Amino acid sequence: MEIFSPHLGLAKNYWKGLLKKGDLVIDATCGNGHDTLYLAGICSVIGLDIQDRAIRNTEILLKKHQKKGALYRLSHTDIDTLLLPHAPRLIVYNLGYLPQGDKSITTRTETTLESVTKGLKLVAPTGALSITCYPGHEEGQREEKALEEWAATLPSHQWSVCYHKWINRPRSPSFIWIGSALQM
Ligand code: SAM
Repeated sequence: MEIFSPHLGLAKNYWKGLLKKGDLVIDATCGNGHDTLYLAGICSVIGLDIQDRAIRNTEILLKKHQKKGALYRLSHTDIDTLLLPHAPRLIVYNLGYLPQGDKSITTRTETTLESVTKGLKLVAPTGALSITCYPGHEEGQREEKALEEWAATLPSHQWSVCYHKWINRPRSPSFIWIGSALQM
């Protein structure tokens, strides 16, 4: 478990448990590329971000570690326009703004909801969505609440949904896992 970002440590444990070598994963918010790099160490990865800077940083990080990934400057609302070799086993959303970047360029409640709804249709029958939320800022708080409410309505015969939050730290990051009920 990562001591200073336990929600990410938890998320990575879920990713490791699900993914196998031949799988495809979409990192829907590649940012500085840390998650993309981690995922590229397990299987094939496609990374999306709306910022050139994020795509560049991810490219540099992958190159430095001699890993491969297909990166696109694309909003995750257009996730359904990607030409994919097969259905992704996992789609990862690490929400919020680019660390050390422009804080006004952040994921937004409406567009994130649009993307995760598309993501559920796109993902493989035994696949999952992984979402980490950052309620430390106003839009992040709204986004977390909306996602939690949306995820709670998903039919339990199709999806198993888990929500993790450090409950004595209300503004701490949270983690939502939406896995196929076929795996339970
Ligand atoms: N996963 C990243 C990492 O490991 O470094 C951190 C991601 S950062 C918290 C969130 C990213 O989401 C930012 O880089 C931001 O540009 C991106 N973003 C915001 N809105 C987006 C959208 N509609 N589609 C894709 N990426 C978006």
